[in-house]
Amino acid sequence: MKVLIVASEVNPFVKVGGLADVAGALPKALANLGCEVSIVMPMYRQINLAEYEVYEFIKTLDVPLGYGNETASIKRVSLSKDIHLYLIDNGAYFQREALYNFPDDPRRFIFFSKASFELAKILEPDIIHCNDWHTALVPGYVKYYWDKKQVGTLFSIHNLAYQGLCERDMFIYSGLPEVAFNPEGVEFYGKFNIMKSGIVYSDMINTVSPTYAEEIKTPEFGCGLDGLLRSRSDVLVGILNGIDEDEFNPQIDRYLPVRFSVDSLEKKEENKRFLLSELGLIYDRNIPVVSFIGRLWEQKGIDIILQAIPELMSRNIYLIILGTGSEYYHQVLSQFKEQYPDKVSVNLKFDNRLAHLIYGGSDFLLMPSRFEPCGLGQMIAMKYGTIPIVRGVGGLKDTVRENDTGFVFFDYTYNALIESVDRAINLYNDRDRLEKMRKRIMLEDYSWGNSAKKYLDVYDRILKKR
Ligand code: ADP
Repeated sequence: MKVLIVASEVNPFVKVGGLADVAGALPKALANLGCEVSIVMPMYRQINLAEYEVYEFIKTLDVPLGYGNETASIKRVSLSKDIHLYLIDNGAYFQREALYNFPDDPRRFIFFSKASFELAKILEPDIIHCNDWHTALVPGYVKYYWDKKQVGTLFSIHNLAYQGLCERDMFIYSGLPEVAFNPEGVEFYGKFNIMKSGIVYSDMINTVSPTYAEEIKTPEFGCGLDGLLRSRSDVLVGILNGIDEDEFNPQIDRYLPVRFSVDSLEKKEENKRFLLSELGLIYDRNIPVVSFIGRLWEQKGIDIILQAIPELMSRNIYLIILGTGSEYYHQVLSQFKEQYPDKVSVNLKFDNRLAHLIYGGSDFLLMPSRFEPCGLGQMIAMKYGTIPIVRGVGGLKDTVRENDTGFVFFDYTYNALIESVDRAINLYNDRDRLEKMRKRIMLEDYSWGNSAKKYLDVYDRILKKR
């Protein structure tokens, strides 16, 4: 089967969040199952092709948009015999200091989607697999303009909260036909909702965990699209993400000072010692390290972490934070760092190496998310014997079981968070139980092999429908 995966970020080329992990790992797992996989992504300034394989220029592609044509230069990197990465190069849109958060993001990703669609016409895959709003127009273009051999479309929702909502002039720029601009199509209260194109026009839809697939059909998690998602529930499924075990594996991790496995768990302690000394904290075997890695936005529960910190500081723990996000959270966290210099480490940056050291050297990973489509941190942590403390939503609920593979709380309050940290501290003080839980979580299977099979089933289901 020929699959074209369209994504706005792909690990290890560029990564902002979990989407990149998925777009980087799923192709390898699909190729292992016999698929021929192409990936298409924007050629950002941050991508240093020289670091990877040799790349070839394929062609200059006309991209019809608005009332004229734009162009994309297409480059290709062969990642293996069965996996090819296509890069959509257009300096005006992608040679910038960051991947996202520009006022013209809708225009940039409409361009990317249209260019990907034009490329798909050349590659003629069996399935086009799109991801999040940045690529959601592709199923719309396929519905209205595909004139090649039949193709199926899958739209994956990694995060419903970002929808690419913009003004109607962007709809005109997109080139979708006028009939698409109505509430059954891509209109959302007079505006153009790019994500709706993926939900309305694709053959099937999936989210990245079974629980999130249910949650988004409710007003609480539906971000205004729950009604539409309920109407498509017959083609909406949840498939849990896996993790990339080439990258996240304590036995071969190139960043860890001391590698370890479930049979040499005592070496984890050396990683804790190293982590604390690197962050300027004093190692003490009796003090558990509780860490947080992630974007500093409300979604990740950072507001209840901040409320909990003063009381948590009365416990004998270290707290390590790694993340970037809103300026407000940067400031408040920096203040806590000043207030508790011997107990808190705040690292306001994106740092893959430090993330690995934290997964390896921490005792607990905190993920008190308000909502969580899948969440990779908890699964990565488990591979390193680091016990997750999570709020029971979305993929966190699907992966963490109370007192078995971690600690789970449900109320979105700092009190509930503190209570779950207290349960974790109790466990920490009982070495026997601690070691048993660590071993148990390290043996959980989060390999991509399982999830890739489920994606393949969905692709098959789409092709049979046609
Ligand atoms: P999301 O996609 O919502 O940001 P996920 O938990 O699905 O959250 O994935 C986040 C991924 O990004 C994980 O691999 C996590 O380790 C990584 N990550 C998040 N923030 C940072 C950071 N500041 N430095 C390094 N890695 C980070």
